[in-house]
Amino acid sequence: MADRPQLEGAPGPGSPRTGPRPRGGDPSHLGTREPKSDAPPAPGLYLVATPIGNLGDITLRALDVLRNVDRVACEDTRQTQKLLNHFQIEKKTVSCHEHNERERATGLIQEIKRGSAVALVSDAGTPAINDPGSWLVREAIAAGVPVVPVPGANAAISALVASGLPTEDFQFLGFLPEKAGARRTFLEKLAAREQADPRSTPRTLIFYEAPHRILETLADIEELWGPLLNAVVARELTKLHEEFLRGTVAEVRAELASRDRIRGEITLLVEAPVSAKSSGNAPGTQTTHETIAARVARIQSENNIDEKEALKRLARELGRSKSDLYRELQRERARKR
Ligand code: SAM
Repeated sequence: MADRPQLEGAPGPGSPRTGPRPRGGDPSHLGTREPKSDAPPAPGLYLVATPIGNLGDITLRALDVLRNVDRVACEDTRQTQKLLNHFQIEKKTVSCHEHNERERATGLIQEIKRGSAVALVSDAGTPAINDPGSWLVREAIAAGVPVVPVPGANAAISALVASGLPTEDFQFLGFLPEKAGARRTFLEKLAAREQADPRSTPRTLIFYEAPHRILETLADIEELWGPLLNAVVARELTKLHEEFLRGTVAEVRAELASRDRIRGEITLLVEAPVSAKSSGNAPGTQTTHETIAARVARIQSENNIDEKEALKRLARELGRSKSDLYRELQRERARKR
């Protein structure tokens, strides 16, 4: 713990203590303090958001907290060190990532209980949003330790507010499953949930997606939910090459498909699929939801060919691999049994 003036009667650094130390007062006072204050924050776990690209997005309060906490727990200490160096902050760091968060939580909570203030940061954006932190937060709450958000950049919310899609009703879903089959099942379940109760589906769905999977994901959404839903790809937010592609799922996919390479960090937003029964939309704006089995059967009967050949043609039409479609067909059949 850093050597710093103690309030009268406060135990010295490192003295065991179970309650909050009487320094810095209530965490809410931090909001009214001038930046670069030397006043130590009250003991607690501070969830500090960091920039998602543009270093100018760090908040004054984040800098203040990072300067004055006893320790910074980081998803990747090397990454955070760069940020700390940039802002000339010298601070002890400790790793807290998806592989050690549970063990680390115990030690960090003990430290806070002894009177320390600990900041948690991820590599970029808000900790615990698709980043380590939620385990530590739950444990800290269970241990009666104050948990204090220090808000700032977040890719999902930044993308949403500039997307032009409805902001009054949205759901953040993080990363879709990586494997094609699991992803399609997930998307089908989302659409099915809406069909069971249209009011239960938020109107804008937000996903994080990797650049090398975005085309496949858009193709799946187009095929399962229809080509006409509005979609937005928000790429490289807050950075030099920030870009928003707005249009229907089909338009956005076609634009990305026409590029030699798709790079950068991507947040994808899509209008929730609207079920046929609840929609007042024109035909064609509704979920198509024709199964692979039904499409294969239709191609077979229209062309008088066997299933294997029909699958091959459908795979070509959809730009997907034959084996992938075959697995999808098997899954549909298994679900019917
Ligand atoms: N905790 C972070 C937050 O608050 O946004 C998110 C961390 S998550 C591991 C990283 C993903 O967020 C990226 O793969 C990308 O999908 C999205 N993302 C992060 N930075 C972004 C940016 N500058 N532009 C668009 N999407 C971004």
